[in-house]
Amino acid sequence: MERSFKKEVQALKLGDGETFHGEGILAVTKALLQSGVSYVGGYQGAPVSHLLDVLVDAEDILSDLGVHLETCSNEASAAAMLGASINYPLRGAVTWKSIVGTNVAADALSNLASPGVVGGAMIILGEDYGEGASVIQERSYAYALKSSMWLLDPRPDLPSIVRTVEKGFELSEASHAPVMLELRIRACHATGEFAASDNRKGIVSGLDKLAGPPRFEYGRLAHPPVIFAQEKLKIEERLPAARAFIREHKLNELIDGDLNDVGIIVMGGLTNSVLRVLERLGLADIFGASRVPVLVLNVVYPLVPEEIREFCATKRAVLVVEEGHPDYIEQAVNVELRRADIQTRVLGKGLLPNAGEYASGVLLNGLAAFLTETRPNGIDADAVAGKARDILAARAKTAEALGALPARPPTFCTGCPERPVFSAIKLVQREIGPTHISGDIGCHAFATFAPFSLGNSILGYGMSLASAAAVTPNMERRPIAVMGDGGFWHNGLITGVESNLFNKGDGVLIVMQNGYASATGQQYIPSSAASKEGPAPGMDIERTLRAMGVKWLRTVRTYGVANMVKTLKEAMRTAERGLKVIIADGECQLARQRRVRVQDAEKLKRGERVTRTRYGVDDEICTGDHSCIRLSGCPSLTVKPSPDPLRTDPVATVIESCVGCGLCGEVAHAAVLCPSFYRAEIVRNATWRDRFVHRFRQIVIGWLGGYNGRAVVKT
Ligand code: SF4
Ligand code: SF4
Repeated sequence: MERSFKKEVQALKLGDGETFHGEGILAVTKALLQSGVSYVGGYQGAPVSHLLDVLVDAEDILSDLGVHLETCSNEASAAAMLGASINYPLRGAVTWKSIVGTNVAADALSNLASPGVVGGAMIILGEDYGEGASVIQERSYAYALKSSMWLLDPRPDLPSIVRTVEKGFELSEASHAPVMLELRIRACHATGEFAASDNRKGIVSGLDKLAGPPRFEYGRLAHPPVIFAQEKLKIEERLPAARAFIREHKLNELIDGDLNDVGIIVMGGLTNSVLRVLERLGLADIFGASRVPVLVLNVVYPLVPEEIREFCATKRAVLVVEEGHPDYIEQAVNVELRRADIQTRVLGKGLLPNAGEYASGVLLNGLAAFLTETRPNGIDADAVAGKARDILAARAKTAEALGALPARPPTFCTGCPERPVFSAIKLVQREIGPTHISGDIGCHAFATFAPFSLGNSILGYGMSLASAAAVTPNMERRPIAVMGDGGFWHNGLITGVESNLFNKGDGVLIVMQNGYASATGQQYIPSSAASKEGPAPGMDIERTLRAMGVKWLRTVRTYGVANMVKTLKEAMRTAERGLKVIIADGECQLARQRRVRVQDAEKLKRGERVTRTRYGVDDEICTGDHSCIRLSGCPSLTVKPSPDPLRTDPVATVIESCVGCGLCGEVAHAAVLCPSFYRAEIVRNATWRDRFVHRFRQIVIGWLGGYNGRAVVKT
């Protein structure tokens, strides 16, 4: 895994009277244990990858409490796990990245929400929305609405997060509905403290097992005819029960203020940002005491009509701070006030943007506009607006002083095994012409950026081959679908390969076999060389594909660019119809480096011989055309001024971060570029044999070069 939490998880053992200090993700895990969960699971994805990593690192603590941990193969299997809470008083939680994971899980979620639950069921969503997000910008809110699952959006401080998790289970049980708890990236990594409680064993767990299933009850199935009754139950019983619980247990918070002719209704997750902006405008202190009353919605669905009415009734105007589109909360507040004939003005979208993250600058503008528009009694709204203008002007001035900063598009790590495959595709396209590339989710999606700029569509995780199904019969040249091994097991095997074989499709599929779910932090997958328990899970992509009936199948080492080019050309040109699969084999370099560095350090400590390969460019031979950079895109390959005063073009050079993967040399060779690249072995703790060979080489090169044996040999 990218990050080990072995040390931090010790804090999960804290009990009554002790104080927990740490990160939001760990606080959530602690809250789950304090809530008496019987099972946990999920599928990794930012920003909740680390939640699953923490659970894996805490497996001993979980098993002491009889908690079962499942690292699921995708979000659908994680959602289906919650089925344990339909019949039994088992509390359980699963996690994934939303919106994409919720899309994958949607079928199981509908079938869970319809019969409802007996034990508390919680889905912890990594709400990947806003700046830095890596998926399509949609809201999980829609799922909560359509399936009648309650959506918790806790204020991002640790006591609120922990309370919301604990109360979330009670809410689920009181209303017999699953709950979703959304965590934005800042909440996941916020640090703080809270008063810990003892961990609890579930009523039923691996330590206290059920004797057997309950009496058969048709109403527990999501199946006709009971689905019609279940729809009514959702609206007539579960929704009122949820609202009563939210109100009784004060899950939403009221921050009272003296400027009470106006107010702000905010999604819990945005509370800190709003309070910070109010503080900058002189209307709140740094501890969150605000002069403008704020209704904090730690539960954004369902809203509690009485709470909305009570908050708004005494105010001339309220601002709804609701990030993203559509404006579900703003619409609901408007409807509620009209129904109750309350004439409070509702402002929101318009003063605040319809789309995009509500970062501090956006909120500063929006709040200043609200105050100017509504002019609360007791403050000089123009002076407050002036303050906002000054802050934004200072920010603009700083940006101007800094000048245009260079764009930093994400890219493959240095030495990534996937980069050579795209170098090979570029070389093949030079010869056979452009091809349609079906991209996928994973590190290989970095190929969509320069210098490769390869990829025509991305339809979801493991969907590349399926998304080429209608391109293939309509295009002269075979499309190439690229998929990672993570995507292959997540969805690609069934959605892509099975469908292609079933339909006797054609086309080329490249499976990047790097051994991990690399983009999410190197979690193990079914074909990894190891597992969380130690030994390899034993599933193999090549054997699986052969068993399914793939006839044309090649496994190629990714760094062998010439061989990859040859294999790709063969796949593109062969008259043989049917799916052609190339397994591009090369371990994730980041994971490899993490492993090898530790091993090398131990060897050095023991005085053993350690070698490291580096590549370099000979300044005198480099012509300065930089084709090598355009074809490999390696961040360790850059330019420097030419040492030759007669040549003004900068020459290529390899910097210290080179991991010696050999791609630049391979590309130079495969593309017949130039012979400037050399390979060097850096030997530490050299043996007598290394020293002898080195001396001998010096002498020979010295003779050949006429340097009296004093030639510089790069070792
Ligand atoms: S994490 Fe691994 S697979 Fe992903 S870009 Fe880095 S080296 Fe490549
Ligand atoms: S060998 Fe070349 S491609 Fe590989 S890391 Fe070093 S500079 Fe980059």
